[in-house]
Amino acid sequence: MGSLSGKNAVVTGSTSGIGLAYARAFAGAGANVVINGFGSPEDIEKERSKIESDFKVKAVYSPADMTKPAEIAEMIALGEKSFGSVDILVNNAGIQFVSPIEEFPIEKWDQIIAINLSSAFHAIRAAVPGMKKKGWGRIINTASAHSLVASPFKSAYVSAKHGIAGLTKTVALEVATHKITCNCISPGYVWTPLVEKQIPDTMKARNLTREQVINDVLLDAQPTKEFVTSEQVAALALFLCGDDAAQITGTNLSIDGGWTAE
Ligand code: NAD
Repeated sequence: MGSLSGKNAVVTGSTSGIGLAYARAFAGAGANVVINGFGSPEDIEKERSKIESDFKVKAVYSPADMTKPAEIAEMIALGEKSFGSVDILVNNAGIQFVSPIEEFPIEKWDQIIAINLSSAFHAIRAAVPGMKKKGWGRIINTASAHSLVASPFKSAYVSAKHGIAGLTKTVALEVATHKITCNCISPGYVWTPLVEKQIPDTMKARNLTREQVINDVLLDAQPTKEFVTSEQVAALALFLCGDDAAQITGTNLSIDGGWTAE
């Protein structure tokens, strides 16, 4: 029996990167999972069925678009209908856009605030009644080192991530007496498609080569000079789901190779 046997988790943005690592870590500990995110139907089905066969749990896919509040509520309802409850909610879906503020496309600002911040509000709002009824819950938000410090050219992302840190604290206080915890995890740079995709725009915004962006911009921020791995982030989330973490709530946990210590 895994430590999360009998528990059910929803992980947004789990078709790729850190989200997929969370989903696989929870499933590895015995939880059923709702996965969510974009991608080709074949790739998503491959990941979904692999979770079931690797870990002998149930995995269902929600196609909810995190810019659409009604679809987010449906995703939580799908988890409750499929498994009986949503005990663990991880708000993880996120996108990035890199541009000087005076050229920052207005629709990109709106999209980043919707996906990286408002979606967490909508999902928590929908999931908390079920958690209160059960008298147990874990809410984990993927924030970022950018919830604590800024970098130029990432105005929307930094604003959304600072917002997530505030939402985390507020929710933690509201649900504190219901055995529900709410925390955020703040990774530094993790090598995922999200980081890889921003390299060309950062090259343009800062007039640098690809190697310079990796070594002088990305890894320059991290004193360890190493990327964080998705599996390390997922292991921290798994710890937060356990009984040993019952008194950890309202916190912002850094996993950033020392970035925000500077
Ligand atoms: P990723 O691009 O690999 O994964 C993002 C996921 O979000 C994908 O599954 C994608 O399909 C999904 N997604 C995007 N838009 C969506 C939408 N509208 N509706 C539903 N799903 C949507 O990126 P990642 O690096 O794994 O990022 C995951 C989270 O971690 C994000 O919140 C990101 O801000 C955060 N983060 C990443 C890093 C890093 O260095 N990679 C560092 C700190 C924080």
